[in-house]
Amino acid sequence: MLIDGHGRRVNYLRISVTERCNFRCQYCMPEKPFSWVPRENLLSFEELFSFVKVAIDEGVDKIRITGGEPLLREGLDSFVRMINDHKEGLDLALTTNGYLLEDVAGRLRDAGLKRINVSIDTLKADVAAKIAQKDVLERVLAGVEKALEVGLKVKVNMVPLKGINDDEIVDVMEYAKARGMRIRYIEYMENVHAAAGLKGLSGKEILARVKERYTIRKIGREGSSPAFNYVTDDGYTFGVIDPHKHDFCESCNRIRLTAEGHLIPCLYFDEAMSIRDAVKAGDIGRATEILREVLRNKPEKNRWSEESDEHSARAFYETGG
Ligand code: SAM
Ligand code: SF4
Repeated sequence: MLIDGHGRRVNYLRISVTERCNFRCQYCMPEKPFSWVPRENLLSFEELFSFVKVAIDEGVDKIRITGGEPLLREGLDSFVRMINDHKEGLDLALTTNGYLLEDVAGRLRDAGLKRINVSIDTLKADVAAKIAQKDVLERVLAGVEKALEVGLKVKVNMVPLKGINDDEIVDVMEYAKARGMRIRYIEYMENVHAAAGLKGLSGKEILARVKERYTIRKIGREGSSPAFNYVTDDGYTFGVIDPHKHDFCESCNRIRLTAEGHLIPCLYFDEAMSIRDAVKAGDIGRATEILREVLRNKPEKNRWSEESDEHSARAFYETGG
Protein backbone atom coordinates (compact mmCIF):
# COMPACT_ATOMS: atom_id res chain seq x y z
CA MET A 1 0.00 0.00 0.00
CA LEU A 2 1.28 3.49 -0.85
CA ILE A 3 1.05 6.05 1.95
CA ASP A 4 2.32 9.58 1.42
CA GLY A 5 4.27 11.77 3.86
CA HIS A 6 0.98 13.10 5.27
CA GLY A 7 -0.62 9.72 5.93
CA ARG A 8 -2.87 9.70 2.87
CA ARG A 9 -3.33 6.45 0.97
CA VAL A 10 -2.43 6.93 -2.69
CA ASN A 11 -4.11 4.48 -5.05
CA TYR A 12 -4.81 6.61 -8.13
CA LEU A 13 -2.40 7.12 -11.04
CA ARG A 14 -3.19 9.60 -13.81
CA ILE A 15 -1.12 9.07 -16.94
CA SER A 16 -0.75 11.81 -19.52
CA VAL A 17 0.17 9.96 -22.72
CA THR A 18 0.89 13.14 -24.68
CA GLU A 19 1.00 16.86 -23.97
CA ARG A 20 -0.04 17.59 -27.56
CA CYS A 21 -3.55 18.72 -28.24
CA ASN A 22 -5.80 19.45 -31.19
CA PHE A 23 -7.56 22.21 -29.16
CA ARG A 24 -6.10 25.38 -27.62
CA CYS A 25 -8.46 25.85 -24.71
CA GLN A 26 -8.01 29.33 -23.33
CA TYR A 27 -7.87 28.06 -19.75
CA CYS A 28 -5.22 25.44 -20.46
CA MET A 29 -2.82 26.35 -23.29
CA PRO A 30 -0.52 29.31 -23.89
CA GLU A 31 -1.75 31.87 -26.42
CA LYS A 32 1.66 32.22 -28.01
CA PRO A 33 3.07 29.41 -30.15
CA PHE A 34 5.32 27.08 -28.20
CA SER A 35 7.26 23.94 -29.00
CA TRP A 36 6.14 20.48 -28.06
CA VAL A 37 8.35 17.89 -26.44
CA PRO A 38 9.95 16.01 -29.37
CA ARG A 39 8.17 12.73 -30.09
CA GLU A 40 11.34 10.72 -29.48
CA ASN A 41 11.30 11.89 -25.85
CA LEU A 42 7.94 10.25 -25.20
CA LEU A 43 7.93 6.94 -23.40
CA SER A 44 6.46 4.14 -25.48
CA PHE A 45 3.26 2.44 -24.33
CA GLU A 46 5.39 -0.58 -23.32
CA GLU A 47 7.61 1.68 -21.17
CA LEU A 48 4.64 3.44 -19.61
CA PHE A 49 3.05 0.06 -18.97
CA SER A 50 6.17 -1.22 -17.18
CA PHE A 51 5.71 1.63 -14.70
CA VAL A 52 1.96 0.99 -14.48
CA LYS A 53 2.78 -2.56 -13.33
CA VAL A 54 5.10 -1.18 -10.62
CA ALA A 55 2.37 1.18 -9.45
CA ILE A 56 -0.24 -1.61 -9.42
CA ASP A 57 2.11 -3.87 -7.43
CA GLU A 58 2.49 -1.03 -4.91
CA GLY A 59 -1.28 -0.64 -4.48
CA VAL A 60 -2.62 1.52 -7.30
CA ASP A 61 -6.05 0.28 -8.37
CA LYS A 62 -7.41 3.32 -10.20
CA ILE A 63 -5.87 4.60 -13.44
CA ARG A 64 -6.91 7.42 -15.73
CA ILE A 65 -5.42 8.03 -19.16
CA THR A 66 -5.35 11.70 -20.08
CA GLY A 67 -3.28 14.36 -21.86
CA GLY A 68 -3.03 16.80 -23.75
CA GLU A 69 -5.46 14.98 -25.93
CA PRO A 70 -4.90 11.25 -25.35
CA LEU A 71 -6.73 10.20 -28.54
CA LEU A 72 -4.01 11.92 -30.59
CA ARG A 73 -1.67 9.14 -29.57
CA GLU A 74 -2.00 6.37 -32.14
CA GLY A 75 -2.88 2.90 -30.89
CA LEU A 76 -4.19 4.10 -27.56
CA ASP A 77 -6.55 1.13 -27.51
CA SER A 78 -3.53 -1.19 -27.34
CA PHE A 79 -2.35 0.63 -24.19
CA VAL A 80 -5.83 0.31 -22.69
CA ARG A 81 -5.78 -3.40 -23.49
CA MET A 82 -2.35 -3.92 -21.86
CA ILE A 83 -3.53 -2.35 -18.61
CA ASN A 84 -6.96 -3.94 -18.65
CA ASP A 85 -5.59 -7.43 -19.32
CA HIS A 86 -2.95 -7.07 -16.60
CA LYS A 87 -5.30 -7.05 -13.65
CA GLU A 88 -8.95 -7.71 -13.21
CA GLY A 89 -11.08 -5.20 -11.36
CA LEU A 90 -8.94 -2.13 -12.04
CA ASP A 91 -10.85 1.11 -12.31
CA LEU A 92 -9.59 2.28 -15.71
CA ALA A 93 -10.88 5.48 -17.31
CA LEU A 94 -10.01 8.09 -19.94
CA THR A 95 -10.42 11.87 -20.15
CA THR A 96 -10.78 13.33 -23.63
CA ASN A 97 -11.97 16.43 -25.43
CA GLY A 98 -14.10 14.08 -27.56
CA TYR A 99 -13.05 15.42 -30.97
CA LEU A 100 -11.66 12.08 -32.22
CA LEU A 101 -13.96 9.90 -30.16
CA GLU A 102 -16.53 8.91 -32.76
CA ASP A 103 -14.01 6.81 -34.69
CA VAL A 104 -12.37 5.07 -31.74
CA ALA A 105 -15.09 4.63 -29.11
CA GLY A 106 -15.85 1.06 -30.23
CA ARG A 107 -12.18 0.05 -30.26
CA LEU A 108 -11.63 1.51 -26.80
CA ARG A 109 -14.66 -0.39 -25.48
CA ASP A 110 -13.37 -3.61 -27.09
CA ALA A 111 -9.98 -3.04 -25.42
CA GLY A 112 -11.70 -3.03 -22.04
CA LEU A 113 -12.36 0.63 -21.33
CA LYS A 114 -15.56 1.19 -19.36
CA ARG A 115 -15.59 4.86 -18.45
CA ILE A 116 -14.71 8.16 -20.09
CA ASN A 117 -14.95 11.81 -19.16
CA VAL A 118 -15.58 14.28 -21.97
CA SER A 119 -14.98 18.00 -21.56
CA ILE A 120 -18.02 19.99 -22.69
CA ASP A 121 -17.89 23.63 -21.68
CA THR A 122 -20.73 24.86 -23.89
CA LEU A 123 -23.46 23.74 -26.27
CA LYS A 124 -23.02 26.78 -28.50
CA ALA A 125 -20.76 26.28 -31.52
CA ASP A 126 -19.42 29.84 -31.45
CA VAL A 127 -18.59 29.70 -27.75
CA ALA A 128 -16.89 26.31 -28.20
CA ALA A 129 -14.84 27.81 -31.03
CA LYS A 130 -13.91 30.73 -28.80
CA ILE A 131 -12.81 28.51 -25.90
CA ALA A 132 -11.00 25.83 -27.94
CA GLN A 133 -9.88 28.31 -30.62
CA LYS A 134 -11.21 25.91 -33.24
CA ASP A 135 -14.63 24.87 -34.56
CA VAL A 136 -15.12 21.72 -32.48
CA LEU A 137 -18.61 21.33 -31.06
CA GLU A 138 -20.31 19.17 -33.69
CA ARG A 139 -17.59 16.51 -33.61
CA VAL A 140 -17.40 16.51 -29.81
CA LEU A 141 -21.14 15.93 -29.48
CA ALA A 142 -21.04 13.20 -32.17
CA GLY A 143 -18.23 11.56 -30.18
CA VAL A 144 -20.33 11.56 -27.03
CA GLU A 145 -23.32 9.98 -28.83
CA LYS A 146 -21.07 7.26 -30.22
CA ALA A 147 -19.48 6.55 -26.84
CA LEU A 148 -22.94 6.13 -25.30
CA GLU A 149 -24.08 3.97 -28.22
CA VAL A 150 -21.18 1.51 -27.77
CA GLY A 151 -21.93 1.26 -24.05
CA LEU A 152 -19.25 3.42 -22.45
CA LYS A 153 -20.20 5.18 -19.24
CA VAL A 154 -19.71 8.89 -19.88
CA LYS A 155 -19.24 11.80 -17.48
CA VAL A 156 -19.11 15.43 -18.56
CA ASN A 157 -16.53 17.95 -17.29
CA MET A 158 -17.34 21.66 -17.55
CA VAL A 159 -15.13 24.62 -16.54
CA PRO A 160 -17.46 27.62 -16.02
CA LEU A 161 -15.88 30.96 -16.97
CA LYS A 162 -17.30 34.40 -16.26
CA GLY A 163 -18.81 36.09 -19.29
CA ILE A 164 -17.98 33.15 -21.57
CA ASN A 165 -20.07 30.09 -20.68
CA ASP A 166 -21.48 30.83 -17.22
CA ASP A 167 -24.95 31.32 -18.70
CA GLU A 168 -24.92 27.65 -19.77
CA ILE A 169 -24.29 25.95 -16.42
CA VAL A 170 -27.81 24.55 -16.26
CA ASP A 171 -28.09 23.94 -20.02
CA VAL A 172 -25.03 21.69 -20.05
CA MET A 173 -26.43 19.92 -17.00
CA GLU A 174 -29.73 19.32 -18.84
CA TYR A 175 -27.82 17.96 -21.83
CA ALA A 176 -25.90 15.53 -19.60
CA LYS A 177 -28.95 14.59 -17.57
CA ALA A 178 -31.02 13.78 -20.66
CA ARG A 179 -28.37 11.21 -21.65
CA GLY A 180 -27.87 9.66 -18.22
CA MET A 181 -24.42 11.26 -17.80
CA ARG A 182 -23.17 12.86 -14.60
CA ILE A 183 -21.76 16.37 -14.89
CA ARG A 184 -18.85 17.65 -12.85
CA TYR A 185 -18.18 21.37 -12.78
CA ILE A 186 -14.49 22.16 -12.34
CA GLU A 187 -13.51 25.47 -10.80
CA TYR A 188 -11.10 27.26 -13.12
CA MET A 189 -7.59 26.79 -11.70
CA GLU A 190 -5.45 29.86 -12.33
CA ASN A 191 -2.24 29.01 -14.15
CA VAL A 192 0.38 30.95 -16.07
CA HIS A 193 -0.37 29.20 -19.38
CA ALA A 194 -4.00 30.31 -19.54
CA ALA A 195 -5.22 33.39 -21.39
CA ALA A 196 -4.87 36.58 -19.40
CA GLY A 197 -7.97 37.93 -17.73
CA LEU A 198 -9.93 34.69 -17.48
CA LYS A 199 -12.11 34.48 -14.40
CA GLY A 200 -13.66 31.28 -13.22
CA LEU A 201 -16.75 30.82 -11.09
CA SER A 202 -16.32 29.54 -7.55
CA GLY A 203 -18.15 26.40 -6.49
CA LYS A 204 -20.57 28.63 -4.58
CA GLU A 205 -21.32 30.72 -7.67
CA ILE A 206 -21.82 27.58 -9.77
CA LEU A 207 -24.28 26.20 -7.22
CA ALA A 208 -26.13 29.51 -7.14
CA ARG A 209 -26.77 29.16 -10.88
CA VAL A 210 -28.04 25.60 -10.45
CA LYS A 211 -30.30 26.76 -7.60
CA GLU A 212 -32.03 29.20 -9.96
CA ARG A 213 -33.60 26.06 -11.53
CA TYR A 214 -33.43 23.37 -8.83
CA THR A 215 -33.54 22.83 -5.11
CA ILE A 216 -30.38 20.93 -4.28
CA ARG A 217 -29.12 18.84 -1.39
CA LYS A 218 -25.50 18.14 -0.41
CA ILE A 219 -24.34 14.53 -0.58
CA GLY A 220 -20.60 14.94 0.04
CA ARG A 221 -17.43 13.51 -1.43
CA GLU A 222 -17.50 9.95 -2.71
CA GLY A 223 -14.44 8.34 -1.12
CA SER A 224 -11.35 10.28 -2.25
CA SER A 225 -13.10 11.79 -5.26
CA PRO A 226 -12.12 15.41 -5.88
CA ALA A 227 -15.78 16.18 -6.60
CA PHE A 228 -18.23 17.25 -3.90
CA ASN A 229 -21.59 15.80 -4.92
CA TYR A 230 -25.09 17.25 -4.80
CA VAL A 231 -28.51 15.96 -5.81
CA THR A 232 -31.32 17.95 -7.38
CA ASP A 233 -34.93 17.71 -6.21
CA ASP A 234 -35.67 15.46 -9.19
CA GLY A 235 -32.91 13.03 -8.23
CA TYR A 236 -30.04 14.00 -10.53
CA THR A 237 -26.55 13.77 -8.97
CA PHE A 238 -23.84 16.17 -10.05
CA GLY A 239 -20.44 17.20 -8.69
CA VAL A 240 -18.33 20.29 -8.13
CA ILE A 241 -14.54 20.07 -8.16
CA ASP A 242 -13.42 22.86 -5.88
CA PRO A 243 -9.63 22.98 -5.50
CA HIS A 244 -9.87 26.46 -3.94
CA LYS A 245 -11.59 25.02 -0.85
CA HIS A 246 -9.34 24.58 2.16
CA ASP A 247 -10.26 20.91 2.66
CA PHE A 248 -9.84 19.89 -0.99
CA CYS A 249 -6.43 18.25 -0.53
CA GLU A 250 -7.23 16.38 2.69
CA SER A 251 -8.09 13.11 0.98
CA CYS A 252 -5.92 13.47 -2.13
CA ASN A 253 -5.09 10.00 -3.40
CA ARG A 254 -3.44 10.97 -6.73
CA ILE A 255 -0.08 11.03 -8.46
CA ARG A 256 0.55 11.91 -12.08
CA LEU A 257 2.87 10.51 -14.72
CA THR A 258 3.72 12.55 -17.83
CA ALA A 259 4.44 11.17 -21.29
CA GLU A 260 8.15 11.89 -20.77
CA GLY A 261 8.23 9.97 -17.51
CA HIS A 262 8.00 12.73 -14.90
CA LEU A 263 6.23 11.58 -11.79
CA ILE A 264 4.37 14.53 -10.30
CA PRO A 265 3.03 14.48 -6.75
CA CYS A 266 0.74 17.54 -6.98
CA LEU A 267 -1.07 19.29 -9.83
CA TYR A 268 -0.12 22.70 -8.46
CA PHE A 269 3.64 22.42 -7.98
CA ASP A 270 6.61 22.12 -10.34
CA GLU A 271 8.31 19.37 -8.32
CA ALA A 272 8.73 16.02 -10.10
CA MET A 273 11.11 13.08 -10.38
CA SER A 274 11.79 11.15 -13.55
CA ILE A 275 11.23 7.42 -13.86
CA ARG A 276 12.45 7.58 -17.46
CA ASP A 277 15.96 6.15 -17.03
CA ALA A 278 14.78 3.46 -14.62
CA VAL A 279 12.04 2.34 -17.00
CA LYS A 280 14.32 2.43 -20.06
CA ALA A 281 16.88 0.29 -18.20
CA GLY A 282 14.17 -2.11 -17.03
CA ASP A 283 15.19 -1.30 -13.43
CA ILE A 284 11.97 -2.04 -11.57
CA GLY A 285 13.66 -1.65 -8.17
CA ARG A 286 14.73 1.91 -8.98
CA ALA A 287 11.32 2.80 -10.42
CA THR A 288 9.72 1.57 -7.18
CA GLU A 289 12.17 3.63 -5.09
CA ILE A 290 11.38 6.77 -7.10
CA LEU A 291 7.65 6.18 -6.71
CA ARG A 292 8.04 5.88 -2.93
CA GLU A 293 10.25 8.96 -2.74
CA VAL A 294 7.81 11.07 -4.74
CA LEU A 295 5.09 10.04 -2.31
CA ARG A 296 7.18 10.88 0.74
CA ASN A 297 7.56 14.40 -0.68
CA LYS A 298 3.95 14.90 -1.81
CA PRO A 299 2.90 18.39 -0.70
CA GLU A 300 0.19 18.62 1.92
CA LYS A 301 -1.92 21.01 -0.15
CA ASN A 302 -2.07 23.11 -3.28
CA ARG A 303 -1.88 26.91 -3.16
CA TRP A 304 -5.12 27.81 -4.86
CA SER A 305 -7.30 29.14 -2.13
CA GLU A 306 -10.63 30.84 -1.66
CA GLU A 307 -8.83 34.01 -0.53
CA SER A 308 -6.04 34.32 -3.11
CA ASP A 309 -5.85 34.06 -6.87
CA GLU A 310 -2.34 32.59 -7.03
CA HIS A 311 -1.27 31.13 -10.37
CA SER A 312 0.38 27.75 -10.77
CA ALA A 313 3.26 27.37 -13.24
CA ARG A 314 2.31 23.76 -13.93
CA ALA A 315 0.79 23.15 -17.36
CA PHE A 316 -2.46 21.20 -17.33
CA TYR A 317 -1.84 20.00 -20.88
CA GLU A 318 1.34 18.35 -19.61
CA THR A 319 0.00 16.81 -16.42
CA GLY A 320 -3.42 15.85 -17.71
CA GLY A 321 -5.39 18.01 -15.27
N1 SAM B 1 -7.77 17.03 -23.46
C1 SAM B 1 -8.56 16.32 -22.54
C2 SAM B 1 -9.74 17.13 -22.09
O1 SAM B 1 -9.78 18.33 -22.34
O2 SAM B 1 -10.63 16.55 -21.49
C3 SAM B 1 -7.81 15.78 -21.35
C4 SAM B 1 -6.79 16.69 -20.72
S1 SAM B 1 -7.43 18.12 -19.92
C5 SAM B 1 -5.96 18.88 -19.32
C6 SAM B 1 -8.21 17.40 -18.48
C7 SAM B 1 -9.21 18.29 -17.80
O3 SAM B 1 -8.54 19.41 -17.26
C8 SAM B 1 -10.31 18.81 -18.69
O4 SAM B 1 -11.57 18.47 -18.16
C9 SAM B 1 -10.11 20.31 -18.68
O5 SAM B 1 -11.33 21.00 -18.76
C10 SAM B 1 -9.42 20.51 -17.35
N2 SAM B 1 -8.65 21.74 -17.27
C11 SAM B 1 -7.66 22.16 -18.07
N3 SAM B 1 -7.19 23.36 -17.68
C12 SAM B 1 -7.91 23.70 -16.57
C13 SAM B 1 -7.91 24.83 -15.69
N4 SAM B 1 -7.08 25.83 -15.85
N5 SAM B 1 -8.78 24.83 -14.66
C14 SAM B 1 -9.64 23.80 -14.48
N6 SAM B 1 -9.68 22.72 -15.27
C15 SAM B 1 -8.83 22.67 -16.31
FE1 SF4 C 1 -6.43 20.31 -24.95
FE2 SF4 C 1 -7.83 19.35 -22.93
FE3 SF4 C 1 -6.14 21.42 -22.57
FE4 SF4 C 1 -8.35 21.78 -23.95
S1 SF4 C 1 -8.23 21.22 -21.79
S2 SF4 C 1 -6.30 22.47 -24.56
S3 SF4 C 1 -8.63 19.87 -24.95
S4 SF4 C 1 -5.59 19.38 -23.09
